[in-house]
Amino acid sequence: MPEKKDTRGAPATVVTRFAPSPTGHLHLGHAYSALFAEAEARKAGGRFLLRIEDIDRTRCRRDFEAAILEDLTWLGLSWETPVRRQSEHFDAYAAVLGDLERRGLLYPCFCTRADIRREIEAAGHAPHGPDGPLYPGTCRALDAGARAERVSSGRPFALRLDMAKAAAAAGPLSWHDREEGEIAAAPGLFGDVVLARKDTPTSYHLAVTLDDHIQGVTVVTRGKDLFHATHVHRLLQALLGLEAPGYHHHRLLTDAEGRRFAKRDRSLTLRALRESGKTPSDVRAMIG
Ligand code: GLU
Repeated sequence: MPEKKDTRGAPATVVTRFAPSPTGHLHLGHAYSALFAEAEARKAGGRFLLRIEDIDRTRCRRDFEAAILEDLTWLGLSWETPVRRQSEHFDAYAAVLGDLERRGLLYPCFCTRADIRREIEAAGHAPHGPDGPLYPGTCRALDAGARAERVSSGRPFALRLDMAKAAAAAGPLSWHDREEGEIAAAPGLFGDVVLARKDTPTSYHLAVTLDDHIQGVTVVTRGKDLFHATHVHRLLQALLGLEAPGYHHHRLLTDAEGRRFAKRDRSLTLRALRESGKTPSDVRAMIG
C-alpha cells in the first residue's frame, strides 16, 4: 500500500487508538490491546488516542469508565485529551444515517428477536455470518404504505442497511491488513446489518467507522475477533466518502486453557492484579 502523505507531501503522522466499552473492568486482553496501539503510535512518533464506546446506555457505566482511565494510567499509558465519548455524539451519527436514508440505503426493521427466530425456523435454514444467522430480510420487503403505517403507530424500529443495494452502490472494495495484506471486502457476509438500534440511535459498526474518521485514526489496531467487522466498516467508509485507514488485527490473548479473556474473568482484571500486588511491569511481562 502506498505510504500515506499529508497534503504537503510529508508522510502522514501515525494515529492509533484504544476504544474500550465501559461495561466492566479491563482485563489482560484489554491491556495487551491498549499497549499494542500505544506502541504502534510511539514507534512511529505518532499520536495515541482513547475513545470510550458507550453507546449502549443500559450496559455502560460511568464508574467503569473512570476505572478504565485509572487502570490505563496505572499501566503507564497516556493519551491525548479530550477523550472522545461516543454517547456525546449521537447527532453526528444521526446526520450520516439521514444521508444514507435519503439515498434509499436503509430501511426500518420492526422485527423482535423472536420474530426473526420464527422467520428463520419457518424458512428451515438461514445463511450464517460471523455474528450468527443472517437477518432474513422480512422488513426489507414491506411496501412504503406498510412502513409508514407502522412508524406512525409508534412501533419501535431499528435501521438496517440494505446490503445488496449498498454493496452495488459502492462497487468492489478492499482494505489493507498489516498481517494479512490486501483483503477483498465481503460485507455481504453480515447481511443487512443494523446501523441504528431500537434502543440506541446508532450501532457499533456506524459509530466506530465514523469516529475513526473524525479522530483522524490512520491505523486501526484491534483484536482478530473484529477482523470480519472490517468488511462492513470498509463498505461504510465507501458509502460515506471516508478515506480507509490501515488495519492491524492483533492476536488475542488466551488463558492457560486457551480461552480468550473476558470481562467475567474477575481474577485477571487489571484491578485485581494490582490489588494482589502485581506491578505494571509484571502485567507487561504476563502479556508478553
Ligand atoms: N469497543 C470495542 C470493544 O470494546 C472495540 C472497538 C474497536 O476497536 O473497533 O470490543
